[in-house]
Amino acid sequence: MEVALLSFTPEPELIVAAAARLSTSSISAGELRQNLSAEQVNSLLERLLSSGHLSPFEHASFTFALDGISRVTSHQLVRHRLASYTQQSQRFVSFNELNFVTPATIVAKENLKAKYGELIRASHELYRQMLDEGIPAEDARYVLPSAVETKLVMTMNARELMHACSLRLCQKAQWEIVELFERIKAEVTKVAPRIGAELKPKCYQLGYCDERESCGLLPTRKER
Ligand SMILES: Cc1cc2nc3c(=O)[nH]c(=O)nc-3n(C[C@H](O)[C@H](O)[C@H](O)COP(=O)(O)OP(=O)(O)OC[C@H]3O[C@@H](n4cnc5c(N)ncnc54)[C@H](O)[C@@H]3O)c2cc1C
Repeated sequence: MEVALLSFTPEPELIVAAAARLSTSSISAGELRQNLSAEQVNSLLERLLSSGHLSPFEHASFTFALDGISRVTSHQLVRHRLASYTQQSQRFVSFNELNFVTPATIVAKENLKAKYGELIRASHELYRQMLDEGIPAEDARYVLPSAVETKLVMTMNARELMHACSLRLCQKAQWEIVELFERIKAEVTKVAPRIGAELKPKCYQLGYCDERESCGLLPTRKER
C-alpha cells in the first residue's frame, strides 16, 4: 500500500491554537495567528488535549491519496463517517490486470497461497470474459473478491484522525487497517508533529486495555 499526503491546512497546529485562543480573546483569529509564538502554540495544544477540548482540532484537515489497499480495508475505513472519501469506481474502471492483497498468514502457507492466487485469477478471468461478452462492468464486478486493491482520496480533520487512530492503531484491530493508519500517522507527523504524536491507540488515553485480552502494551482493566 502507499499513503501520500496530498494537501493539508497550512500551519495546522497554529490554526488550531489560534481558534482555541479566540474563545477567550477580544481580537480576531487572523491577528492571533500573527502574534502567537511557537511556545504559546505548544502550550495551547497541551491545554486542549489535557482538558479534552478537542473541537479546535477540527480546523486542521489532511487529504491523503491511499493506493493499493484491499476492499476489505476500504470497507472498514469508510465506516469512519466524519471524513470525506472518493474511491476508484468498479463501475467505470474496468480492470485489465487485477492487483490484490495477500495477507502474510496466507503467504506463509505455500499450498494455500497458491490456491488463493488461483481463485483470484479465475475470478478475474470470468470478469474479463463477462466484459468481452457485453456484461457491464457494474455487473461483472460482482465476481471480484474483497482482496482486490483499490484507491481512495480521503480528507479527515485532526480530531477525527485522533478518534480513528484510537480505534485502528490498536493492535487488536485488523492488520491491514493498522498498517494504513500507521502510515497516515507518519505522514501527519512530518507536517504536524504534535498532532501526529496524539495519533495513538485508545489504551494510551484510557490508561489500560479495554479489549478482552491485551496485546501486551498495557494491562486490561482486570489485570491492573
Ligand atoms: C476492532 C474493530 C472491530 C469492529 N468490528 C465491527 C463489526 O464486527 N461490525 C460492525 O458493523 N462494525 C465493526 N467495527 C466498526 C465500528 O463499529 C465503527 O463503525 C467504526 O469503528 C467507526 O467508528 P465510530 O462509529 O466511533 O466513529 P466515526 O464514524 O469515526 O465517528 C466519530 C464519532 O462521531 C460520533 N458520531 C458519528 N456519527 C454519529 C451518529 N450518527 N450519531 C451519534 N454520534 C455519531 C461518535 O461519537 C463517533 O465515535 C469495528 C471497529 C473496530 C475498530
